[in-house]
Amino acid sequence: MAEHYKPVKYKQWELTLEERFQEVYEPLSNREAVLEANRCLYCHDAPCMVACPTHIDIPTFIKKISTENTKGSARTILQANLLGATCSRVCPVQELCEGACVLHDEEKPIMIGRLQRYAMDYAAEKNLKFFHPQKPNGYKVAVIGTGPAGLSCAGELAKLGFDVTCFEKKPMAGGLDTYGIVVFREPVEVSLAEVKMIQDMGVKIKTNTAVGVDVTMEELLEGYDAVFIGAGLGNVPDMSIPGEDLPGVVDGLEFIEETKIKKLDQIHFGNRVCVIGAGNTGIDCATIARRLGSERVTIIYRRSEAEMPAYHFEYQFAMGEGVSFMFLTQPIEVVGNGKVEGVKCVRMDLGEPDQSGRRIPVPVKDSEFIVPCDMLVKAIGQKKHTDMYAALAKVGVKTTHNGYIAVDFNTNRTDNPKIFAGGDCIRSKGEASTVAAVQDGKIAAAAIHHQILGTRSPNEKHIEPVLSPVK
Ligand SMILES: Cc1cc2nc3c(=O)[nH]c(=O)nc-3n(C[C@H](O)[C@H](O)[C@H](O)COP(=O)(O)OP(=O)(O)OC[C@H]3O[C@@H](n4cnc5c(N)ncnc54)[C@H](O)[C@@H]3O)c2cc1C
Ligand code: SF4
Repeated sequence: MAEHYKPVKYKQWELTLEERFQEVYEPLSNREAVLEANRCLYCHDAPCMVACPTHIDIPTFIKKISTENTKGSARTILQANLLGATCSRVCPVQELCEGACVLHDEEKPIMIGRLQRYAMDYAAEKNLKFFHPQKPNGYKVAVIGTGPAGLSCAGELAKLGFDVTCFEKKPMAGGLDTYGIVVFREPVEVSLAEVKMIQDMGVKIKTNTAVGVDVTMEELLEGYDAVFIGAGLGNVPDMSIPGEDLPGVVDGLEFIEETKIKKLDQIHFGNRVCVIGAGNTGIDCATIARRLGSERVTIIYRRSEAEMPAYHFEYQFAMGEGVSFMFLTQPIEVVGNGKVEGVKCVRMDLGEPDQSGRRIPVPVKDSEFIVPCDMLVKAIGQKKHTDMYAALAKVGVKTTHNGYIAVDFNTNRTDNPKIFAGGDCIRSKGEASTVAAVQDGKIAAAAIHHQILGTRSPNEKHIEPVLSPVK
């Protein structure tokens, strides 16, 4: 991780619980932002802009900060990415824009993420509004889910005059930005402010409304000219090992969610915590447990450090928080008398690579041992929405061999021409991220616009409009 991304110095015993859950990275001051912006070379064909999945005009927004036109800078960001505030906080910038910055090798890359946050914070503080409801074009679109994919698609369609209604099964909109990203990386208020911005553009959001339960797919297809599915993925799957029903075994996403919606002093946590899985969720659960006050937190992962799904900077961050890692270790049973008291594990060796290229972990004979713990957090990925798939199949939407919704990646259209999809629910390959979901929503919005109104989209030849508005 770049030197300038060092988190705020944190000593557990010196901070209150609330202080430990403040944003880890401090905002840039006005002087720091202008100085940093002046380092940018404003490259022609800027590689940072190419590396950004939403292709924000990075040199332009930075130039505007250098001339203290922060409002203009925020406008430039939002024109390409309506979730600019979230992305400035959660994007793996080291892998994307900053990793591609021409100054990366010579000295240090421009702090693009922190400059973006500076501009977005300015817009939020001043309550600036850049988009207003448009003249209606007479067409209606239903959006399932209000995570980054759904919100981005809804907002882009609203800019084009569509009448958009989002259906969200949770009480609050925002998807994982609201419920899943740890508060010390993104406070809930930042996500909810983005939801409000999309609503102010004219988008209607029906929360506590699950598609498939409160409203059917058929009803949406009858009532709307197009449907976008941005339903993300589900809870953490079962580990399918004995003892996982014991009290003290928790779902990692639910553990994170508690820290986003509950008072911190009301959250139950263990003193010795084992976290199973070394991806985004595993790292977040482990660091949350440490910040809540757990004395010993261990991440258990069946492959080696080289294969772990978490980014290197997340790994370093977790180690800096005092989290320990047990690699090449597979849990085989949760043990305890009426509550979790430990997890029985077996040592692993790496065998031949599987289809994904990662070497398959193979158990080492007679290597069983128990790691004592009083809380075990499951963080081994997310379930697919298989409950929705029967309903989707009925309306002609196909899924991939590994259980994601199948789309044409140029348009994000499914096999039913009225239904589009984006975000984690289509990410059958590549890494799931907020910014990728935002871009999926944009691609689908452009394709819906093109399909319904016959306008030219960058990825397809011109076609005549085929649909008339739903009455
Ligand atoms: C713990 C964790 C940490 C992460 N950290 C990062 C990070 O730091 N940086 C990063 O870039 N990415 C991160 N990610 C990944 C990122 O959050 C996702 O890629 C992104 O949120 C996907 O957006 P989405 O809109 O597809 O889905 P989601 O954000 O999952 O939103 C889907 C929405 O659909 C709703 N929904 C589902 N089914 C229905 C239904 N039937 N009817 C109505 N509504 C429905 C859900 O309630 C939810 O609100 C993280 C993921 C996790 C789990
Ligand atoms: S690559 Fe770096 S120096 Fe060049 S425009 Fe982007 S941020 Fe500025």
